[in-house]
Amino acid sequence: MASHPELTDDFTQQLYRDVKLSGACAGRALARNTALSRISLFGRKELMKLLKLPPRLAGLSTAGFPESCWLSPNGRPYSSGVPSGDHLLYTARHFALRASLGKIIDKEINPFVDKWEEEGQFPAHQVFKTLGKAGFLGIDKPTEYGGLGLDFSYSAAVAEELGRCRCGSIPMAVGMQTNMTTPSLTRFGSDELKKEFLAPTIAGDFVACLGVSETGAGSDAASIKTTAVRKDDDYVINGGKMWVTSGFQADWMCLLANTNDGPPHKNKSLLCLPMKLPGVHIAKKINKLGMRSSDTAEIFFEDVRIPRKYLIGEEGMGFIYQMLQFQEERMWGVATSLVCLERVMEETIDYTSQRKAFDKPLLHNQAVHFRLAELATEVELLRALLYEAVGLYIRGNDVTKLVSMAKLKAGRLSRELPDSCLQFWGGMGYTNEVLVSRMYRDLRLLSIGGGADEIMLNIICKHMDILPKKNQKG
Ligand SMILES: Cc1cc2nc3c(=O)[nH]c(=O)nc-3n(C[C@H](O)[C@H](O)[C@H](O)COP(=O)(O)OP(=O)(O)OC[C@H]3O[C@@H](n4cnc5c(N)ncnc54)[C@H](O)[C@@H]3O)c2cc1C
Repeated sequence: MASHPELTDDFTQQLYRDVKLSGACAGRALARNTALSRISLFGRKELMKLLKLPPRLAGLSTAGFPESCWLSPNGRPYSSGVPSGDHLLYTARHFALRASLGKIIDKEINPFVDKWEEEGQFPAHQVFKTLGKAGFLGIDKPTEYGGLGLDFSYSAAVAEELGRCRCGSIPMAVGMQTNMTTPSLTRFGSDELKKEFLAPTIAGDFVACLGVSETGAGSDAASIKTTAVRKDDDYVINGGKMWVTSGFQADWMCLLANTNDGPPHKNKSLLCLPMKLPGVHIAKKINKLGMRSSDTAEIFFEDVRIPRKYLIGEEGMGFIYQMLQFQEERMWGVATSLVCLERVMEETIDYTSQRKAFDKPLLHNQAVHFRLAELATEVELLRALLYEAVGLYIRGNDVTKLVSMAKLKAGRLSRELPDSCLQFWGGMGYTNEVLVSRMYRDLRLLSIGGGADEIMLNIICKHMDILPKKNQKG
C-alpha cells in the first residue's frame, strides 16, 4: 500500500492510507445507491435518455467491458458518434456523453475562444451554466446534489472531450469546478455544506476556485502561512493565495489554511470560503504566458469571518484531503491534454501536406512524418497509462504512483509535441493565428501546475523506495 512522500511520520502515513480507502469506497457506494430518477433539470434528463441509463445505478461500473466500443486506430473519431466494438475503459455511454459535450463545445465555446483569449477572461458563469444545465459539471457527483452519480471514468471521458476546446483555459477551469475543488467537499463535507456549495457548483450557478498555493509556498504546500483561527462560532482568516484560477469570477474558494500550531501535515483544514465577503481583496489579475482566457488572481484575506460549519470534514485533516483531491486534479489534467495534443498533430498534418517546399509537401520529408508517428505513439502510451490509472481508481485502488507517472509524462509530452509541431509550421507557427502556438504556451503549464515534474518524480521515487531517507548516509 502506497504512502505519500510529503507525509513524514508513520501515523500520518497510515491516516492518509485509511482516508484514501474509505473515501474511495464511500464514493463508490454513494454512486451505487443514488436514484437517477430524482434528476430534474431538462438538459440532464436529455442526457440520461441519451445514455439510456437505468433508473437506479445498481452496480454501475465502467469496469464492465460488455458494452464495449470501437476506437478508431487513427485516433480521429474519438469524439464523434458512438463507436461500436472494443474499448478498454469506455462504453457506448461514455462515447454518447462525449458526443453530446462535443456539440456544446462546437456551438457554445469554440466560436468565441479567440475573443475570450483577447479579453483575458472567458465568461465563466455563462459557460458553466450551459455545461451545468446539460449535466456536465456533476458527472461523478451524487444525484441528491444534482450530479449524475457516475464514476470517475465518465469524468475522464468528459475531460478528454474538453481537449477539443481551442484553448487550455476552459478545460482547466471546468476541471477546477468539477474535480479540483469539489472531491473533498463531496466525500467529507456535511449535507448542509454540500447543499450550500456543491449543488450550485454542479448546477453552474457558482464558480469555484482553489486556494492552496501562496507567494511563498507552491511545491511545498505544507509550508503555507494562511491561517483560519477559531473565534466563538467563526473562523477568522488572514493571509493570501496566489495563482488562483477563476479567482476574479469565483463565488467560493476551497481554501487550505492552518487551523492550529501543530506539525505541518496535521495543522491544516479545508474550508468553503464565500468570495464576496468583507476582507477578501482580489489584488491583481496575473498576466501570463499562456492560458490567457483564464483569469488568474492573487488574493489577500484580512480578518475574513466565516462560520465554523464551513469546515470540510475534520479539522486538521486538510493536508491529507488535499493530497487525495490532487489525484483527480492530475488525472483530469492528463485527460484534457490528450485530445489537445492530437489536434495539434492533426492540424500539423493538414498544414504540412498542403505546404510545399522543394517541389513536395513538407509532410513527404521522412524527418516530418517519422517525427509525427513517434509523437502519435507517445500520445497513445500516455492514454494507456491514464486508462490504467482511471480503471484502478474507480475500483477503489490507490493510484498515486500511476497518476504521478501519467502527470509527469503529460507534462513532458506537452512541451515536446507542440514544440516539434510548431517547428514544422515555420514562421506561421510563430504567429498567434494558429492553434499550435496557443497550445505551445497553454500546455507548458502541465509541467508546473498541480505539482511540478520534479514533485511527480519525488512521489514516484518514494513509491519505488529509492528516495534517500532523512539523515541517510553513504
Ligand atoms: C496558470 C496557473 C494557474 C494555477 N492555478 C492554481 C490554482 O487555481 N490554485 C492553486 O492553489 N494553485 C494554482 N497554481 C499554482 C501551481 O500549482 C504552482 O505554480 C505549482 O505548484 C508550483 O509552485 P511554485 O510556482 O510556487 O513553484 P516553486 O515551488 O517555487 O518551484 C519552482 C520550481 O522548482 C522546482 N522544484 C520545486 N521543488 C522541487 C524539489 N523538491 N526538487 C527539485 N525541484 C523542485 C520545480 O521545477 C518547480 O517548477 C497555478 C499556477 C499557474 C501558473
